[in-house]
Amino acid sequence: MNRNLVLIFTLILITSFGCFHAVQKKLELPGQDRIVLDQLVIHTDFALPRKHRLLGELTGLRKNIANQLDLPTSDEPINIYLFENADSYHQYMAIHHPHFPNRRAFFLKSDTTLEVYAYWGERIAEDLRHEVSHGYLHAVVPNLPIWFDEGLAEYFEVPIGFHGRSQPHIELLAKLLKTGQWKPDLARLEDLRYADEMSQVDYAESWLWIHYLLENGKGMRAFVVDQVHQLRENGEAKSLSGTLVENGITSQNAIEHLQHIGNNQ
Ligand SMILES: [Zn+2]
Repeated sequence: MNRNLVLIFTLILITSFGCFHAVQKKLELPGQDRIVLDQLVIHTDFALPRKHRLLGELTGLRKNIANQLDLPTSDEPINIYLFENADSYHQYMAIHHPHFPNRRAFFLKSDTTLEVYAYWGERIAEDLRHEVSHGYLHAVVPNLPIWFDEGLAEYFEVPIGFHGRSQPHIELLAKLLKTGQWKPDLARLEDLRYADEMSQVDYAESWLWIHYLLENGKGMRAFVVDQVHQLRENGEAKSLSGTLVENGITSQNAIEHLQHIGNNQ
């Protein structure tokens, strides 16, 4: 074999191994670095400062949720697999969880594990606050109804100090209400069983009910606390919509709350 041919062959081999290695790497979970913060175990393949303020927010969220809902904290690890970018995250998810809808982040729970998958992008802070909230909640409360679970996660994904106020949800619901395309119906939300049944409007309405009960200043936090305590003790809870109706709280109250917070920006 002449010398040039050998060189080309060697280069092809090196290139092939290089590509093979790169593809293999993208299909694995991040795991070169590990940061442990209370319950959180964060796995990354990139340099994430150990005192990054987002990590401080996530550990603070644990106490915030426990305080707001009168819940104990758990020491069960929540493993967060934090991909460096959207490409590596989507490639991993396409191979390992091909049936999952195309989303920026996921929370996964099994009998023995609590896991979050996400990537470092523009909305990573809100994504992690949301998914890690699921982790903190599921560590201490079993069988959370889907609307309740998502409503709480949407509330707690808002940075601390904003009282769970979500401007995008307010604007979406106000617009649909005005055009007669939506009105609150908690009993309908309670009938939803699976995450893929939840539309964007359902997420927003779930958030609205939680925000109304936790933030209207009329002592209704007790209804939410009672739900999580029933679930925690019995694995099931009485219908919250039924309890609210018994206490004279209807869809009209949720509408008035939406209008009130919409007017107080
Ligand atoms: Zn969620």
